[in-house]
Amino acid sequence: MNDTTRDPSAAPKGLLSVTEARQRIDALITPIHGTEQLPIRTALGRILAAPVISTINVPPYTNSAMDGYALRGTDLPMSDTARLRVIGRAMAGAPFAGQVNAGEAVRIMTGAAMPDGADTVLMQERVQVDGEHIVVSAGHKPGENVRQAGEDMAVGSTVLESGKHLLPAELGVLASLGIAEVRVHRRLRVAFFSTGDELKSLGEPLEAGQIYDSNRYTLHGMLTRLGVELLDLGVIRDDRDAIRTAFHAAAAIADVVITSGGVSVGEADFVKQTLGELGQVDFWKIAMKPGKPLAFGKLGAAIFFGLPGNPVSVMATFYEFVQPALQKMLGMQTPPNLIVRVPCAVTLKKEIGRLEYQRGILHTDANGTLAVTTTGRQGSHVLTSMSKSNCFIILPAESTGVHAGELVEVQPFAGLV
Ligand code: AMP
Ligand code: MG
Repeated sequence: MNDTTRDPSAAPKGLLSVTEARQRIDALITPIHGTEQLPIRTALGRILAAPVISTINVPPYTNSAMDGYALRGTDLPMSDTARLRVIGRAMAGAPFAGQVNAGEAVRIMTGAAMPDGADTVLMQERVQVDGEHIVVSAGHKPGENVRQAGEDMAVGSTVLESGKHLLPAELGVLASLGIAEVRVHRRLRVAFFSTGDELKSLGEPLEAGQIYDSNRYTLHGMLTRLGVELLDLGVIRDDRDAIRTAFHAAAAIADVVITSGGVSVGEADFVKQTLGELGQVDFWKIAMKPGKPLAFGKLGAAIFFGLPGNPVSVMATFYEFVQPALQKMLGMQTPPNLIVRVPCAVTLKKEIGRLEYQRGILHTDANGTLAVTTTGRQGSHVLTSMSKSNCFIILPAESTGVHAGELVEVQPFAGLV
């Protein structure tokens, strides 16, 4: 099989492959309804709900790309030099009102409108000033150093497509068009909570057998970066009534409910039963590491993700499954696939069977070549591996690892994790 058609996550019996899991999730996800009109600053991070069509040219007028002299291309000498008379100045915001005729030039600054008659700008460093005149040598091209009206955005063109994620560049693009407000999809409401009797919240002392709840904080961070409305429901005890009440409350107020913990073998039956009363939820064993157990389905009208409890598994399953689902619900254009093949600086070991998302550090090595190295210890409880990493090293299910120097697939975090 060649690389473009193989399924790197082909799963052993009883386990669902990552690709299959993604497809099943995708089949249940539909974009949410509802939009709102927002001032462009407030729209940062939101998803455009309608295309933006340019009603003006940007730049609005043909202008100079350099500080220099505007002149007629036909006055450029083929050989030798030409002597042109400087008849005025054109500044950004203060155009030259007259006409540039043969044998004439206008002193011009970057961004200033091209005067009538002129079609070429020579950089000031490339001409000699001689009193009222400039001396121009051969070797210039007619039309150089000029930005044409509409070169960036032409009247009537679609500048931003519906589904565009509004980032700093888009705010600038909208402002260039004179657009003060845009229509964006409403925010997704995402409720989340942690489950586990061992979990303590910040500010409480730890007693024997207890740990601090970290998943609610990584989830808070990842969800905030996605621009959703957060409904943090805290820690829920491993208690049937408490779980039932929490799920019920969450499903009533949110588009998406995310939990962590309580889906592994031993606990699954317990949560399963509670979920079975409230909705349609499947419990999967996915052929991935970290992150084998995952619950997914519907809780009333809400989409439900029951993530594993281990802190790295939470982040990996969020990144691989939850994030694409939320982006689809938000009507977001699918971001370009960004998986790169780079040499692995170290030997990595792995067992056959599950697709592994090892934590890596993508970097430029001493020779200036892109390479990846490991963060070290890879247990699904080693949350510092996520903190040290900037990418996942994706090792296919059938792989037994790689030797130092071999190529591996790397998925950069793209700013969200
Ligand atoms: P579980 O899936 O509930 O059996 O949890 C698996 C592992 O993840 C156990 O070691 C839990 O203590 C740990 N864990 C579960 N939830 C959290 C959490 N919110 N923060 C940190 N660790 C957790
Ligand atoms: Mg638990």
